[in-house]
Amino acid sequence: MDLLDKKYLLAPGPVPVPPKALLAMAQPVIHHRLPEFSAVLETIRADLKYLFQTRNDVFFFASSGTGAMEACVVNLFSPGDKVIVVRGGKFGERWGELAETYGLEPVYIDVQWGLPVQVEVVKEVLTTHPKAKGLLMQAHETSTGVKHPVAEIAALTRHTETLLVVDAISALGVYPLPMDELGIDVMVAGSQKSLALPPGLSFVALSDRAWKRVEEAKLPRYYFDLRKEKKALGRSTTAYTPAVSLLFGLSAILKRLREVGLETLFAHYARLSGACRAGIEALGLELFSQAPCEALTIVKVPEGVDGLQLMKLMREKYHVTMAGGQAKLKGKVVRIAHLGYQSPLDVVLALSTLEMALSELGYKLPLGAGVAAAQKYFLQEV
Ligand SMILES: *Cc1c(COP(=O)(O)O)cnc(C)c1O
Repeated sequence: MDLLDKKYLLAPGPVPVPPKALLAMAQPVIHHRLPEFSAVLETIRADLKYLFQTRNDVFFFASSGTGAMEACVVNLFSPGDKVIVVRGGKFGERWGELAETYGLEPVYIDVQWGLPVQVEVVKEVLTTHPKAKGLLMQAHETSTGVKHPVAEIAALTRHTETLLVVDAISALGVYPLPMDELGIDVMVAGSQKSLALPPGLSFVALSDRAWKRVEEAKLPRYYFDLRKEKKALGRSTTAYTPAVSLLFGLSAILKRLREVGLETLFAHYARLSGACRAGIEALGLELFSQAPCEALTIVKVPEGVDGLQLMKLMREKYHVTMAGGQAKLKGKVVRIAHLGYQSPLDVVLALSTLEMALSELGYKLPLGAGVAAAQKYFLQEV
């Protein structure tokens, strides 16, 4: 009999969900056109502005994060529009695929996986393509663990005609991205990453100048039409049936967020990721990202170890689900996420699991060294 059926979810989406949100989602479903539901929507509406640090409305859809990315493309652009795409990982590639699918003309800034895009290069491309209608990028490229320099790039795009569209699906609420203050035009998020909810909600917020483009854009759109959602939100409702239960969960998460404050959340993620990196380094293992983000820590699978076997061992024997590498990183890295309902002891657990599994696979490492380094990191911090 397997007594060890306690499972640990340490993947960069979906993430562990706090009990308060789980209980909120267990409430009876109510009809979405009732005044009670409009009241929930109105608090969510105000709290989302706080989270996105914008005075404009934040729209949401019943879809995974990619739906909100698609919403950006169809609402902002017209066929044949030139867009600049930062492509340094799986999710940068997704922007490119979406742009190509809808007949836009992407100009790619290809970045080696593991490196952040260089601001100087972006500056050059913006100068060479002054007619580019948008610059599509990630804040955290979740496939490589890289944090791209969004603030510096926003300082460039705000003086051009090019809209800055940031996929912050794994970055919103993890480190400061004050949308209005930085001049980010569009920001995208998803429920199953930093919002600590199950998958199924996606979000888009837009600046005033981005909103003007929504009205001029010629690409066809139906479900993801932001004009319809804006009209509906004006009447404290949504254009179509919203994900009622997930929105109850969201309401609980946002309420808690208001209580603790964004700054506390940012400090929490900085601490968890800092301790995890310290642990990895103490084990003599290498980080994949040269500009590590706070949402997750990516470790290179050491020479001589089968990465797929390592993931399988951690999952099947220890019931710990981290994520492996995507696309060309398959079998080459382990992605340890800090997203969602996690505490410092989850970092200790992740390091401990990794140490044991690597040892079992014959890799020589000082057992406990990663755990000790993380413990020291946390103790010093207090
Ligand atoms: C997870 C993720 C996505 C895709 O989101 P889905 O919810 O799987 O559609 C896009 N971009 C980034 C940066 C992500 O981390």
